[in-house]
Amino acid sequence: MLLKNGKVLVDNNSDMDFKKTDIRIDDGIIIELAENLTPTPYEECIDLNGDYVLPGMVNSHYHSYTNILRGTSFGEPLELWSVDTVALGKILTETEMALSVSLGICEMLHAGVTACVDHLPHLATSYTAAKTYETTGFKSALAPMLHNIPDNKVLYKMDEVIPNNLEDNSFPTVEEYTHYYMNFIEKFHNPNGNLQVMVGVNSPQRADDKLLKAAYELSYKFNLPIHCHLLETRWQKISADQTISPVLKLEQFGLLGNRTSLAHCIWMNEDELNLIAKRKAIVVSNPTSNCFLGSGIFPSKEYLKRNIPIALGSDGVNCGTNNNMLDILRFFLLIQRSQEQDYRQWINVKEGFHMITKNSNRILGFHRPLGEIKANYSADLVVVNKNSILNILDNYLLNQIIFNSSLSVKHVLINGHFVMKDSKILKIDEENLKREICARKPYLQQDMLKALNSTKKEKNLYKSIYQSL
Ligand SMILES: [Zn+2]
Repeated sequence: MLLKNGKVLVDNNSDMDFKKTDIRIDDGIIIELAENLTPTPYEECIDLNGDYVLPGMVNSHYHSYTNILRGTSFGEPLELWSVDTVALGKILTETEMALSVSLGICEMLHAGVTACVDHLPHLATSYTAAKTYETTGFKSALAPMLHNIPDNKVLYKMDEVIPNNLEDNSFPTVEEYTHYYMNFIEKFHNPNGNLQVMVGVNSPQRADDKLLKAAYELSYKFNLPIHCHLLETRWQKISADQTISPVLKLEQFGLLGNRTSLAHCIWMNEDELNLIAKRKAIVVSNPTSNCFLGSGIFPSKEYLKRNIPIALGSDGVNCGTNNNMLDILRFFLLIQRSQEQDYRQWINVKEGFHMITKNSNRILGFHRPLGEIKANYSADLVVVNKNSILNILDNYLLNQIIFNSSLSVKHVLINGHFVMKDSKILKIDEENLKREICARKPYLQQDMLKALNSTKKEKNLYKSIYQSL
């Protein structure tokens, strides 16, 4: 396939520019970039007529099940919010999960996002999520969560209100987790295609030693990248200070390396930061979610000075966020500027754009590299209507796209295939999706209210300790 006459976003030494370039794609890969390429006989040729072409953006930390839960958070910090969200997540049926995943895919495609890390807490509906990604062609790295210690057993002082010896049988056994993973990998793991499986530790303190050992073995045996939440809140930090650093715990079990991505990473000490740098792990900031839940501000400076790569994620949509990575990036850059008095240290637009494109490449771990428009890279491309950008200063268009424009995305290709054409998503009927969600409203409404009512008692216990910290 030949895409003619596009203005293509490419890296130059100091900046990123749009250059008039044709793109030749074969077998899902960009094979040639040059001006005035001639179509070969029988080659499909599409004239982009001066529209802009960007690499597909990546959401490096995301929970698809929350798309359908938007609006169900009430101005409370993470630990209280979690009690509701866990209860709400449990009510979702397979059909509702498919609708929630599809809704997220539609929103991401319209925003030019072509790939995500989906950190999945519910094993039962994870198959539905995988099938939905598979059929729509959306690129995803799926990280089903490994989790067998509840927060009330690890959060500081919670043992004052919930006895620590209370048995919790709601988690699968380590053997069940391993069996599940083997099955999931066999069914869906395809790093040459559009689905990659990751080892999704929930967070190091939420998994016992046996489970962390199993996580390492799965990662080693199947060569899987690792993804987890890490030191997101002050309460987690206070709790970690009483026992062992979760970063050290990852290190202890061989889970900290250059294929490990760590979401949040707000409350780190010097030793932890240095260890992350030494092991060449990647951090994923989720600025909108962190601000919404009052978790804290990601210390960009500490990561930048240690050359630790930063990627960005939306986290769950019920954390005051959306699935538009340009919005998340804008928010991240504005916060960084407000925290940094020396403007020469501000993250520039090129570095920022890399956080939602090429920095995610190693996180997702697909065989074909992504996040750049370059020969031998995956053809994950976003074509933007040229009229949605004010073309006065050609050299500053990326600046405009990040800070001033709402992009009108026309076409999206993933692995060289159109998944959206003329703003119409090809494998999801969006009107029907909306109708199906509306049709479920009466059941969802009832179940959600029931779930929210059921958490009141437990939430009060968390509240009582939270207020005493
Ligand atoms: Zn998360």
